[in-house]
Amino acid sequence: MPDPDCLFCRIAAGEISADVISQDELVVCFRDVAPQAPTHILLIPRQHIASAAQLTEDHGPMLGRLFASAAAIARAEGLAERGFRLATNAGAGAGQSVDHLHFHLLGGRSFSWPPG
Ligand code: AMP
Repeated sequence: MPDPDCLFCRIAAGEISADVISQDELVVCFRDVAPQAPTHILLIPRQHIASAAQLTEDHGPMLGRLFASAAAIARAEGLAERGFRLATNAGAGAGQSVDHLHFHLLGGRSFSWPPG
């Protein structure tokens, strides 16, 4: 069920514009408005899920599609050979600022570990 007050639900519904690069009935992928790397794409479920802390096994089909989409985008954007990062922040303490599950696909530069 979409949340009418959720920014990413509204992007998924097409009510707020975004640079969408792929979408299907489960997942929407669009470029981050404030990129932290030369390539920075967000992958979200259409379903409103607040964060990774709410995930269960029932979300398996959606997560399978989301990760397959991430891999396909990484190949299409030329990130697969050099490497890329796929990350989600769950909760304010981890840096989550939008309370709709999203994965950051980052590439085109080097990344340090551990993350800050
Ligand atoms: P997080 O801080 O992990 O919750 O990530 C939220 C991300 O959403 C940040 O990287 C923001 O730059 C990005 N963001 C916020 N609003 C928009 C928007 N309207 N379109 C695209 N990306 C956005």
